[in-house]
Amino acid sequence: MNDATPNPKIIEPTIFELSSPGRKGVSMPASDVPEQPMPEKSLLRDDLPLPELAEVDVVRHYMRLSKFNYGVDDGFYPLGSCTMKYNPKINEDTCRLYGYLYTHPLQPIETVQGNLALMYELQEWLKEISGFAAVTLQPAAGAHGEFTGVLIMHAYHKSRKDAKRTKMLIPDAAHGTNPASVGMLGMTIQQIPSDARGNVDLAALKAACDETVVGMMLTNPNTLGLFDENIEQVVKIVHDCGGLMYGDGANLNALLGIVKPGDLGFDIMHFNLHKTFSVPHGGGGPGSGPVGVNSALAEFLPTPLVGMLESGNDDKPPLYGFIEPKKSIGRMKAFHGHFGGGLVRAYTYIAMHGADGLKDIAQYAVLNANYLLARLRATYHVPYDRICMHEFVAEGQFAGSDVRALDIAKRLMDYNFHPPTNYFPLIVHEALMIEPTETENKNTLDAFADALIKIADEAKSQPDLLHDAPKTTRFGRMDEVKAARELVLCCWLPEDYGD
Ligand SMILES: *Cc1c(COP(=O)(O)O)cnc(C)c1O
Repeated sequence: MNDATPNPKIIEPTIFELSSPGRKGVSMPASDVPEQPMPEKSLLRDDLPLPELAEVDVVRHYMRLSKFNYGVDDGFYPLGSCTMKYNPKINEDTCRLYGYLYTHPLQPIETVQGNLALMYELQEWLKEISGFAAVTLQPAAGAHGEFTGVLIMHAYHKSRKDAKRTKMLIPDAAHGTNPASVGMLGMTIQQIPSDARGNVDLAALKAACDETVVGMMLTNPNTLGLFDENIEQVVKIVHDCGGLMYGDGANLNALLGIVKPGDLGFDIMHFNLHKTFSVPHGGGGPGSGPVGVNSALAEFLPTPLVGMLESGNDDKPPLYGFIEPKKSIGRMKAFHGHFGGGLVRAYTYIAMHGADGLKDIAQYAVLNANYLLARLRATYHVPYDRICMHEFVAEGQFAGSDVRALDIAKRLMDYNFHPPTNYFPLIVHEALMIEPTETENKNTLDAFADALIKIADEAKSQPDLLHDAPKTTRFGRMDEVKAARELVLCCWLPEDYGD
């Protein structure tokens, strides 16, 4: 079976097929506002074919759908680069506190001092963690943070009347959002190769540096899970030709409490609160991608920032409000970013762990990844094999076998594991990018390593088991290109919908 034909026994009725005329899930209360005239007839429809169901039917329908999914609350989720760590449930308690839930960003600042204090402190904590001078909380995700950062780089060069800078340097190991963010501004991209140890190739970097360079976007540790051994030289080469260093902070989980990217010489960096700081992700967000900058770039940050307008004393708490950076690039988001879903959860996580706890996170994330690497390197070839940070990249292929990384990933689902990231980074053939995160215990890591070793045996003895996987999921192997290109979001349309 190599198609997505569902087993007929598991085709579920749609919510529309469950509908029965007259069933109701809600009773509307009597109106307590005066009746208003209806709009003109041409704006109204005669009929609205919505399903009619009782509350219990709706609950069961969505409960059933939720069980089709696999999340970090179901099991191990080693999706490299994505940092699918467990999201502590205390985050859910705090982000549902009445005061956070029922405030509106247009309220007078005197009535939302608690929210502003939380945002201010979160800015301060992110500054402390990263070594930057100022932080905006506005961007909605990592990619949005990158775009914000590239706008700031552009504004910085423009303010110095340095208009010839149009070229961004991006390593070949970079995440696809880096070139995409740069492309949105019409800049050109020069790809910089990695050397044999997985570092930025210094000779190639030197050759690419000239007076047209906007800067470099670098992920460190990079997407091979490796800390660049020459990071200070990389930063110096870029600075020497007048460029700025952008840090893609998606891999900050490996550095918390140990290294500050600002100290390494990065000028600007985004944080992924939904990776490093335990805001749930996958399934559509809400993400949160704050951006930190050094003092020279602070005046370009998006407006407004949360500031302390008056410091407090024994009798009076401080007054928080908004401040506008002088040369701001403008707003990046309606209001102030993803407050409850992102900022409150991340604040809770940092407050709960404290400085020592954050350092533990990084150390356990790195330990777990190196443990898995040690258990797997005899079975799976690791092309850039040295002490890794929080993740590593192995090859999902074996000499003399037609089994590919995709087959291995699918077979892992039969063992009830979420597959690792595959086919990224592009510089490793048949890449399997494994990031265990700090929240997994040794039993889970061992079970996962055992499964991968067993799959390597199966690849030799029964390769079709892998080619046909997964067998135990609701659907077999999907045509992923077709699913992405011909996305069907609604599986039901009224009969008279037309063509
Ligand atoms: C996840 C990721 C991004 C993009 O972040 P989003 O929050 O998904 O937009 C960029 N770079 C790297 C290395 C990443 O892992």
